[in-house]
Amino acid sequence: MPEESLRTYHEKRDFSHTPEPYGHEKETEQPIFVIQKHKATSLHYDFRIEIGGVLKSWAVPKGPSTDPKVKRLAMPTEDHPMEYAHFEGVIPEGYGAGTVMVWDIGTYRNLGAEKEPDKKLTMEQAYDKGHIEIWLDGKKLKGGYALIRAGHISDHGWLLIKERDEYAGKPEDPVKTEPDSALTGRSLEEIAKQEPAHE
Ligand code: MN
Repeated sequence: MPEESLRTYHEKRDFSHTPEPYGHEKETEQPIFVIQKHKATSLHYDFRIEIGGVLKSWAVPKGPSTDPKVKRLAMPTEDHPMEYAHFEGVIPEGYGAGTVMVWDIGTYRNLGAEKEPDKKLTMEQAYDKGHIEIWLDGKKLKGGYALIRAGHISDHGWLLIKERDEYAGKPEDPVKTEPDSALTGRSLEEIAKQEPAHE
């Protein structure tokens, strides 16, 4: 990753000991997504996508599935700042106390707009409609995913569903088969113990 101008910031800090964000320059003009594995009161996955300069966020209790037949509950949570996308570490006390891992990270494309180019639906509009389709280019997850607001679920729940494309089923059951950090290679236990990133 091109991080030349952040070199001094990085050299001065040991990111296995500070909860400060690591900080990356933006690699591309494409918007980003991140999925943070969060062991708080209960383990869940925070799915965040950049829309309008913030990270729109959902808590997905079971994490994403790559099987198009599986619908995963995604409960909306508060917007997070862009810098949060690279936060990995321990939240010592208070709200969200526990361990946070960057489980997957990458860029995305507005797949809904690509499917219906004449409508020119922006991500903000798709979010307001409760029907988001995005093409993920992550380190673990790739391909089309839909986030659909489901009126029949109480508390305004959404559903996260893999679309049918060449990345369906790949990797199989990623929550189980690829449990570690996409950023540092560490397990939740290693992050909790503040062990250094794997080489
Ligand atoms: Mn969380």
